[in-house]
Amino acid sequence: MTDFSAPGPVQFTDAVVTVVGARVVGLSASAALLARGAKVTLVDRYDDEVTTARAAQAAAQGATLRLGDDETLPPGTELLVVTPGLPPTAPIVAAARAAGVPIWGDAELAWRLRAPLPDGSYAPWLVVTGTNGKSTTVRMAEAMLKAAGKNVAACGNIGYPVLDAVLRGQPDGSAAGEAAETGAGSDDPFEVLVIELSSYQLHWSSTISALAAVVLNLAPDHLDWHGSYAAYTTAKGRAYENCQVAAVYNAADLETVRLVEEAEVVEGCRAIGFTLGAPGLSMLGVVDGILADRAFVEDRRNNAAELGTVYDVEPHAPHNIANALAAAALVRAYGVEPAAVRDGLRAFRPEPHRIAWVATIDGVDFVDDSKATNPHAASASISAYEHVVWLAGGLAKGADFDELVERHAKRLRGVVLFGAERHLIAEALRRRAPEVPVTDLGVAGPERAAAVMAEAVRTARAMAVSGDTVLLAPACASMDMFTSYGERGDVFAAAVRELKAELELSAEDGE
Ligand code: ADP
Repeated sequence: MTDFSAPGPVQFTDAVVTVVGARVVGLSASAALLARGAKVTLVDRYDDEVTTARAAQAAAQGATLRLGDDETLPPGTELLVVTPGLPPTAPIVAAARAAGVPIWGDAELAWRLRAPLPDGSYAPWLVVTGTNGKSTTVRMAEAMLKAAGKNVAACGNIGYPVLDAVLRGQPDGSAAGEAAETGAGSDDPFEVLVIELSSYQLHWSSTISALAAVVLNLAPDHLDWHGSYAAYTTAKGRAYENCQVAAVYNAADLETVRLVEEAEVVEGCRAIGFTLGAPGLSMLGVVDGILADRAFVEDRRNNAAELGTVYDVEPHAPHNIANALAAAALVRAYGVEPAAVRDGLRAFRPEPHRIAWVATIDGVDFVDDSKATNPHAASASISAYEHVVWLAGGLAKGADFDELVERHAKRLRGVVLFGAERHLIAEALRRRAPEVPVTDLGVAGPERAAAVMAEAVRTARAMAVSGDTVLLAPACASMDMFTSYGERGDVFAAAVRELKAELELSAEDGE
């Protein structure tokens, strides 16, 4: 029998493996395991038409299906592979624990399924996690690696499963039909992977050994899944376990420092910090607007490498400069030259709804940061501006707003609230910033959401003075009124453009 708890590559021939979840990741996992000779049972809670149709693909490849029951462990299971959403409290997990069956997430499975590149080496993993800024940091690192001429995959929790990235180019990499997704034109295996791992995936990882890893920052999130903040940070900290070259921490977030200190890393792995201030030894930071590396240079006591300037970072808001430094630390650990870091930053374009400028009306900037779906993200976003009219509200996911409101009271020209749980923000404002003017627009169903947003934009404009920023950074999820944070941002941008066009028209009429 295979010993799945020992680290390193494993033999799957005839191993009895149960995969939970007949969705993208579960189907990839099932296909890859079957191709390696495992006996796979695919289980799913549902047995409706959609699930049955999806699972049929796995059945055709030889998997046994068990739909409509994801609670009991199929007899004889030697390994349980779980897909990201499954909570640690799931009965099948408890059953596996009780039976002494190892449990792997999709990231752990991907790690075990790696195949060597033609030169015999393995593509290194650069791992990114944290509460906010993960996707941005992954994309920045990807841009830097591309600028260095590397065949890189940005994968993990950003839409391209890490398993698929690992399997690409393997002889039986049956799940690897994603060349279009990554923009890579061939089926060559990737030379290096930049991987966004969620706290869920890290929870189920045990032997992953990144070349470099970063925990960007930590603030309470997803506590319902993990059970407690301590469990959430412990999961995040797993990113550093077995790290080989650089365990990258945020000098402004002592919790990340602690996680590095507590991690079991490979002998010789260095702790590398990033800071928005001047970098100390073994750190990356900012000196007179220059992004400076005092970690990956010779004679780092007296020397620093210039990696570009803060103006190479778009948008050059403080938290985003921090993301850029974190990305730089990862790729520098891998050996990318400073010029490629700079070129990558210049080529990088932020994804939509992340501090995206929409328009300027009478000297007031309107900015869409609809992706700020928790208070920590909204706080970073507000910090980027001197005076803000803040548009906020939605679903709070159990968050607390007092600290955010108190911290930014002086910046807030006014606040416009909408959404199901806006009262939580209203109460925090009353307690911690009673002098800030607040307009409450209530909540609306999807059919009236656009009208409420239009009203919010008009109200905000009336509150703002020239030089201010009207910022949609709701600190909440969007699903009470919108289908997604993307739609919420689009509706905001449309309302701003409409207002601008209307004002221009009436100015022309008046001429
Ligand atoms: P994630 O993938 O972790 O959700 P993103 O890169 O998509 O993060 O950014 C999401 C939002 O988080 C941004 O719109 C911004 O408001 C905020 N954000 C980005 N980077 C940081 C950071 N380093 N610290 C705090 N907030 C951040």
